[in-house]
This record gives sequence, structure tokens and C-alpha cells, in this order.
Amino acid sequence: MADRIGLLGGTFDPVHNGHVSIFRSFLNSDFIDELWILLTPDPPHKQGRNHSSYADRLNMLHLAVADIGNISVSTIENELPKPSFTIQTLRALKEKYSNKNFHYCIGGDSLSSFHLWKDYTSILQEVDLLVAERPDFNHSKISEDILKHTVTISHEPIRVSSTDIRERIKLGNSISDLVPQGVEDYILTKRLYQQ
Ligand code: ATP
Repeated sequence: MADRIGLLGGTFDPVHNGHVSIFRSFLNSDFIDELWILLTPDPPHKQGRNHSSYADRLNMLHLAVADIGNISVSTIENELPKPSFTIQTLRALKEKYSNKNFHYCIGGDSLSSFHLWKDYTSILQEVDLLVAERPDFNHSKISEDILKHTVTISHEPIRVSSTDIRERIKLGNSISDLVPQGVEDYILTKRLYQQ
């Protein structure tokens, strides 16, 4: 069994090509053998008609990663006490898989706000960060205590966000170039994000 696991959390509402591309870059990075995607429970401030249920987000993630090797989708954050905090997820995973070596994987925008995460210094005692660049995020203000636990991987950034996708659908615009085909079919069939 592989020892070096990358963990990548998000709401994936919906998963898009920017996500798929960071998944591939992390897997190609030589720092990890497997990537586990942690689907975050519905954030209280992100519920309502323009957002999708946990089950739909999970189904779309499975469709998006179907042809990628060494990747799996974990629902552990939905099983742990809510609200979901990364420090709690990491401690639970490290206890359950004590023989594994974990990294936490994030996009560059999340690194810019990482100092606002609950217990971020404790997170950095548990894991180092692997970061994939995202367009328009400037890291010049990241503090040294975070940077010394951070490795930036090689990645060709793609300019797309879940917010863009939801907005485009609401306006009736195409999302064909922005999400995997199976995810687009799922969204259209279930009429997600149309309100
Ligand atoms: P939203 O627009 O709803 O805030 P999002 O597109 O930022 O969503 P999340 O599910 O919040 O997607 O992101 C999960 C992880 O993927 C985060 O670490 C985020 O930084 C990263 N990420 C998302 N989109 C990109 C992208 N285009 N390039 C690089 N990283 C990305």
C-alpha cells in the first residue's frame, strides 16, 4: 500500500476543470503516491437553490475522477462532528492510518488565507502543505512560519471557479469547456444551479 497520501479538501460545488487539473498536477508531483479528495459538508452559508446537496457533489466528483489513477473520494468529513475543521479531519485520519505519511494539498488562493484557518499552526504540526498555483494570487504576504511548511508544485493554472460555473448556468451560458463531460451531463440532467 502506498505510504504518501495527499489530502485535498473542498466543497466542489461543482467540481470543474481547474480542480481536475490540480488533482493531476499533485499526482504528478513526486511528493505523493495517492490523492484522497475530502468532500466538505454543506457549509452553513452556502446552502440554498444555487448550491447542490452533498450527494450530488459526491456523484459529480466520482464522475470527474473516474479515469484518473491513484485517486479516491473520501466522505470522512461528513461522518465527523460538524462544523468540519481540517485539524479535526487530519487527527482522525492520522489515528486511523498511522502508517501513512500525509500532505495537505491546496490551491494558491487557499494559501493566501491559510492563516485564517482554525488552528492553522496545529495543522502545520501535523502535515506540510503542497500548493498548486491559481491565477491572480500573490503570495508575497505569506508569513515565514507557513512558508517553511510549504512546497509549491509545478502546475499550469486554469482560470475557473465553481462560482463562475454556477453563474454561467444561471445565465444560460455553456459550461462545456469548464467541466468534464460527465459532470456537465449530470448538471443538465438534474437541472442543478438553474435558479
Ligand atoms: P467557489 O468558487 O465555490 O469558492 P472553488 O472553485 O474555489 O469554489 P473549492 O471547492 O472551494 O472550489 O476548492 C477546493 C480546492 O481547489 C481549494 O484548495 C482551491 O484553492 C482549489 N482550486 C479551485 N479552483 C482552482 C483553480 N482553478 N486552480 C487551482 N486551484 C483551484
